[in-house]
Amino acid sequence: MAIKDKYDLEELRNETEEFVFQELEKQLDGISDDDICKCQDCVLDMICLSLNQLDPRYRVSLMGTLYAKVESKELEDKITRTVTDVLMKVSQNPGH
Ligand SMILES: [Zn+2]
Repeated sequence: MAIKDKYDLEELRNETEEFVFQELEKQLDGISDDDICKCQDCVLDMICLSLNQLDPRYRVSLMGTLYAKVESKELEDKITRTVTDVLMKVSQNPGH
């Protein structure tokens, strides 16, 4: 039995992903395109590196995409710091 064939895994969501997307969007919007590469490769690198440093937060989304909220100031700061570090790292050393 293939789990993927039998169940709808689309409802599985990692909230950390949503938080990283929101934070990355905010930070990238604040930087001019001339100062940082925002190509597909670089942005996906930024997302992977950020997510690998943060704990996943899986939940089942029965009502589609609810806007996820960060549950603590501590977590919010950690996500902000991680994304800031990763942005710096990737922009100084792009994979291309
Ligand atoms: Zn790039």
